[in-house]
Amino acid sequence: MKEYKIIIVIPAGRKRYLEILIPNILSQDGWDELHIWKNTSEPIDVQYIDSLKILDSRILIIEPPRLEPYGARTIGQFFHYCTDKNTVYIRFDDDICYIEPGLVEWLAAVRWAKKEYFLISPCVINNSVASFFLQEENKLKFNYESKISFNCLDSIGWRDSTFAYDLHNYFLDNSVNEFRFPPKELPSMRFSINCISWLGEEFNKFNGIVPDGVDEEEWLTNIKPAEINKKNLILGDKLCCHFSFYTQRKYLDNTEILEKYKKIIPKKYDYLIVGSGFFGSTFARLATDAGKKCLVIDSRNHIGGNAYTEKINNIDIHMYGPHIFHTNNKEIWDFVNKFSSFNNFILSPKVRHNDKLYSLPFNMNTFYELWGCTDPQEAKNIINSQKPIFDHLPKNLEEQALSLVGKDIYNLIIKDYTAKQWMTDPKELPAFIIKRLPLRFTFNSNYFDDRYQGIPVDGYTKLFENMLDGVEVILNVNYFNNKETLNNLTNKVVFTGKIDEYFDYEFGELEYRTLDFIHEVLDIENYQGTAQINYPDPEIPWTRIIEHKHFNKTNSDKTVITKEIPTIWSKDKVPYYPINNDKNNEIYKKYREKADLLPDVIFGGRLAEYQYYDMHQVIGAALKAARIHLA
Ligand SMILES: Cc1cc2nc3c(=O)[nH]c(=O)nc-3n(C[C@H](O)[C@H](O)[C@H](O)COP(=O)(O)OP(=O)(O)OC[C@H]3O[C@@H](n4cnc5c(N)ncnc54)[C@H](O)[C@@H]3O)c2cc1C
Repeated sequence: MKEYKIIIVIPAGRKRYLEILIPNILSQDGWDELHIWKNTSEPIDVQYIDSLKILDSRILIIEPPRLEPYGARTIGQFFHYCTDKNTVYIRFDDDICYIEPGLVEWLAAVRWAKKEYFLISPCVINNSVASFFLQEENKLKFNYESKISFNCLDSIGWRDSTFAYDLHNYFLDNSVNEFRFPPKELPSMRFSINCISWLGEEFNKFNGIVPDGVDEEEWLTNIKPAEINKKNLILGDKLCCHFSFYTQRKYLDNTEILEKYKKIIPKKYDYLIVGSGFFGSTFARLATDAGKKCLVIDSRNHIGGNAYTEKINNIDIHMYGPHIFHTNNKEIWDFVNKFSSFNNFILSPKVRHNDKLYSLPFNMNTFYELWGCTDPQEAKNIINSQKPIFDHLPKNLEEQALSLVGKDIYNLIIKDYTAKQWMTDPKELPAFIIKRLPLRFTFNSNYFDDRYQGIPVDGYTKLFENMLDGVEVILNVNYFNNKETLNNLTNKVVFTGKIDEYFDYEFGELEYRTLDFIHEVLDIENYQGTAQINYPDPEIPWTRIIEHKHFNKTNSDKTVITKEIPTIWSKDKVPYYPINNDKNNEIYKKYREKADLLPDVIFGGRLAEYQYYDMHQVIGAALKAARIHLA
């Protein structure tokens, strides 16, 4: 247990540099807080800085103090916030583009131990005074115009952009060990404060106030230490890199240097997993078990994707529609059972038409309810006699359904339901939507045929919590709002969001069916006596009502129902069902081809693969991806 707190501070301006610095800092161990001083009014930078606080609970955004307008002039005013006792402060310029692993903990420890010094700095690549020492120690073995002087505004070390360019390249081509030098005490003199550390207690003595009108660098490195008769120290045991002084910026910004630094950011994670649904969570579990470090993010305020459940009155509410787990695959069943026990729920929905109830899926119970027939052969004969004979292949959904189940079942149960679900007349819908309509000639109303079926006894959310045990998860983060920073934290990305959004809709938008869910808590014990009733009749806006307590036979004097209402799709709505028609499949194919060219991104799940997957299929796909990528 260390006796002091470590607070990192950054006078923050430019997004393009911070996108490199922040992942560098996040990959460092041992620090307690990161204070980002909002030192800009550029909307794009301000928005970026604000978006950072969600990435790590240790990040605090410090609003500009006193002086207006914002800008470089105000940096001095922020030191007022850096005076806590028992605290080591480490300040990085916002364009520090590389921090050697372990630097923060090491610098803080030395800083705490060597209280006699006012400021302590590590070696900073591209800092004039550090360059002077590197030159003195014969560490800069490349050609430059003339000798670097012991002056922080040196014409080579500070002003010369081609020197900075060569220095960066020389650093990038060599090991960090080539740049070590022994400690250097500084006499009272100005030096560039690209990375400095101080004791909160020391700054507390003058309340952290840098006098108005005095350059804060001159004051902190020269005037103040001279006044209290303290020295500053540069330690050459570890280093960080500073991209550029304003004198060099125009030149360096037009080079490949920053891109090169992006490539050497120490990566905090092996995998960034975008989306905590079944694909993301399954992959995260397997990767973590394989010794990989994972970060899972989700733009929603909860884990579990569409399978998420929430407890209301002790009842697990399936917030995005009813989710019944079913599979024939033992490996998948065993996998999910590691994270939750399952009950033996079997779905047997009803359909309500003209105030009469019929059984689903279509089976002898339905045929009895429709026609009073008890003989399977009789039911078959009725259905066959009602099937129209076309002299062509079914041209639309209506023809397809009629040719599969005949007119009674189609008219009573399918026609209006489908029209409501798709918000389109079935005559206008393509035939492929209904590939088969299984008819059962037994008295068996079990919706799914699979060998293993059920619902997690404590709800899906608990299952996901167990699955993600020991995995870092950040909620309310949209990948696209922080893409560059998040990518810089990791070696590989597992992406389970919309593939068209990933490629910025370059080939057009993919379409989905979407729904509104209306949840109602009712002051009665039992509303409909079963988990699911479908409503085909056109005058009723919802397609089905779910009564959640029946999934788990929960005892409660209240009940919660959900009405599911199809709504028109637009990009800002939640995408539920992909519409795999020719047009969308063509667009998807183009995105897929692009995706296949990205070796460091794994696209998985129903949105990234643009196909309807049941839960067991998503888990199966994630197990397969893990076998390939974690092998
Ligand atoms: C109404 C309905 C009922 C269903 N019923 C059943 C059923 O009974 N049985 C069954 O087996 N299956 C059912 N399913 C299918 C089941 O929901 C899916 O198989 C499963 O949820 C897919 O998991 P996923 O991980 O691919 O996607 P999702 O569960 O959608 O997870 C993707 C996650 O990624 C997040 N995300 C997306 N973009 C971003 C971004 N840019 N930044 C950060 N996060 C992002 C999303 O917020 C989401 O949490 C049903 C689906 C629906 C819509």
